[in-house]
Amino acid sequence: YRYNFNAGPGALPKEVLEEAQAELQSFQGMGASIMEISHRSKAYEAIHFEAQQLIRELMGLSQDYEVLFLHGGASLQFSMVPLNFLTEGKAAGYVHCGTWSGKAWQEAGKIGETRLLASGMETGFKQMPDLSRLPLSGDMAYVHLISNETIGGIQCHSFPDTGEVPLVVDMSSDIFSRPIDATPFSFIYAGAQKNLGPAGVTIAIVRRSLLECIPDTIPDILSYRIHAKHRSLYNTPPVFSIYMVNLVLKWIVKQGGVQGIGARNRQKADLLYNVLDNSGGFYEGLAYKDNRSIMNVTFRAHNPEIENRLLDELEQEGFLGLKGHRDAGHLRASIYNAVTYEQCKALSDFLIGFQRSNG
Ligand code: PLP
Repeated sequence: YRYNFNAGPGALPKEVLEEAQAELQSFQGMGASIMEISHRSKAYEAIHFEAQQLIRELMGLSQDYEVLFLHGGASLQFSMVPLNFLTEGKAAGYVHCGTWSGKAWQEAGKIGETRLLASGMETGFKQMPDLSRLPLSGDMAYVHLISNETIGGIQCHSFPDTGEVPLVVDMSSDIFSRPIDATPFSFIYAGAQKNLGPAGVTIAIVRRSLLECIPDTIPDILSYRIHAKHRSLYNTPPVFSIYMVNLVLKWIVKQGGVQGIGARNRQKADLLYNVLDNSGGFYEGLAYKDNRSIMNVTFRAHNPEIENRLLDELEQEGFLGLKGHRDAGHLRASIYNAVTYEQCKALSDFLIGFQRSNG
């Protein structure tokens, strides 16, 4: 293929892949790869702590936060969050805005009491529910939401003020895609495989004050407090994934940090949404305009036959990953950080040309 619009795992920067390739067999001239040296070695620790520090700098995190590397994908966080924070006598509030937030809510229900605070179901998850009027109460352990619903292609462009109730957010599909003020959040998590590196590591950012309330009764391997105490070296970390995340973070710095990346992502998204909006109904963007994602552009063609032809031709032309999620059945262009403006331009030109020949 020539262009990678996959939703997850998504494209990685070419420069980063080249760098990793160059030292794959001999990390820092050691004659062994990063996967073959001890995670307790100075050489590995330097990569590990540098990656944590880069996350701090790129997000502008204060010392109130701890940065963790965890295993088990973002999905494990659907259970770990309630195991750690949903204490006896409290309820956890969930915002349901699509498949992933639904899963998070469902999993938490197996662990404790949950409350549905807002749902986007009525609009077919084409819109973020109103987050400004969540029915909060003093017995809430936390509020959980997803900043970007990867499948529906909707994104939060502002976040609610939850006051004393800790705000937990799954940023798997838009972390480091735009500048975000971390201070409203008590817990942020993200699987790496969209904007940060290969699958295998999940980034978690936790407010230190929350760590003290975590019960001793949960298994150590599932406790954020234990991971924080061991600086994410409690057991063998996913070393190669963390090494790749380190390289990607340095690449983000070179792109002008989240400011630079964010501006470029906006241009990429505008380019594609403009094609949909100016197609006279030939294409239809799925998300409501106010909630459109700058990471996952979801759309369909005006009839299924045309849509199938479009998918076939896209594949033939080397555009990878445009078929939407198996549950959704539409088209989706995932334009994560590593997807270039030029690649988005190639896709928009292709869509315009396809309409001309089939309209
Ligand atoms: N949360 C969001 C927003 C996602 O997009 C995904 C995967 O695409 C997940 C969670 C699940 O991630 P994982 O496969 O790492 O468990």
